[in-house]
Amino acid sequence: MSRPEDLLEEARKEISQASSSESLESVRVKYLGRKGLLTGVLRDVGKLPPGDRPRAGAELNRVKIAIQALLDERKTGNDSGAAIPVPGGVDLTLPGRGRFFGQRHPLSQITAEIVSIFYSMGFGVVEGCEVEEEYYNFEALNTPDWHPSRDEHDSFYLAPGILLRTHTSPVQIRIMEKTKPPVRIVAPGRCFRRDAPDASHFTNFHQIEGLYVDRDVSFANLKGTLAEFARRVFGPEREIRFRPHYFPFTEPSAEMDVSCANCGGKGCRTCSGKGWLEILGCGMVHPNVFKYVDIDCEIYNGYAFGMGIERIAMLKYGVNDIRLFYENDIEFLSQF
Ligand SMILES: [Zn+2]
Repeated sequence: MSRPEDLLEEARKEISQASSSESLESVRVKYLGRKGLLTGVLRDVGKLPPGDRPRAGAELNRVKIAIQALLDERKTGNDSGAAIPVPGGVDLTLPGRGRFFGQRHPLSQITAEIVSIFYSMGFGVVEGCEVEEEYYNFEALNTPDWHPSRDEHDSFYLAPGILLRTHTSPVQIRIMEKTKPPVRIVAPGRCFRRDAPDASHFTNFHQIEGLYVDRDVSFANLKGTLAEFARRVFGPEREIRFRPHYFPFTEPSAEMDVSCANCGGKGCRTCSGKGWLEILGCGMVHPNVFKYVDIDCEIYNGYAFGMGIERIAMLKYGVNDIRLFYENDIEFLSQF
C-alpha cells in the first residue's frame, strides 16, 4: 500500500502542473474519485490490525483534506499559478460584470435641453408651485370666472379657490409681482388637467413657460427667439410659421408650427396632411395682466410663450403616444 505522505506529494505536484480545469478535474478523480488512489488506500485500512486502524484512518483523512484544499486553492487562483476556469465556478479571467447605469427620463432630458437653449439666450430659470390659487391660475391671467376658456381647464380642485395648476402661466404673475422689469425667465414644471387619457392627452403633463418683459419688446423679438429655439431643437432645415390664435392673457396671440420632418411639408399622416406640426402658443403680454401686477404698460411691454414638453419630446423623438412616457417601461425609456 502506498504511503499517504507520498500520495500527498504526488498530488501536490500534479495539481501545480495542471494547466486547465479538465486536467485539474482528472487529478481530483485520480486521487479522490470513487476508484481513486486515496479511496483505494482507505479501503485497505480495513485489512490492518484493529489497533492500527484509527491512526491510519486519521492520517488518510488528513491527506484527503489536504489534497482537496490544494485543488480548491488552485481553482480559485489563490496560489502562485494562474487561475483556471472552472465550469460552473468563478472564472477570474473574465472581465468584471458591467454595472447597470440608470439614465435621465426622456422628459427630463428634453426639459434640460430646452432650458439650456433659453439659458444661452439670457433667460433665467424659475419654478412655480403645483398647487396654485385660482387667482394666479386664472384671474390675474385675465381669465375671470365667467370666461369660456376656463371650461377646457376644468381641473382638480383641492379646496375652494385652490387647485392643481392647469398650466405654467401662473409663474408669470408670481415672478412679475416680485420682480420689476426687465424680466426674462423660463419656468418648466408639471401641470394637471382633468383630460381623459388618450394618445395625446394625459392628466399629468409638463410645460415650459417663457416670459420677457422690458421696454420696447416687439413681436419680432418673440419670433426671432422662438425661431432660434425651434432650429436648435428640431434642426436648421425645419421651417416655422406663426398662426393667429387666441389666449386670454396675450394680445395679439399666435400658435407656432414647425414643418413636418416626416414629409418635409408635403402632408402625411403624422401631420394630418397639413405639412405642419403645432409646437407652442405665444403672444404679447395683455395690458390687463400688467395691471394685476402693477407694471405700467405705457412704459413696458413683453411677450410670453408656453409649450408642452411631452409634445416637443414626441415630435423630436417620434413617439406616437404620450402615455408611453408614464408607463415606466424600461425597454422604452432606455432608448433615449
Ligand atoms: Zn407630414
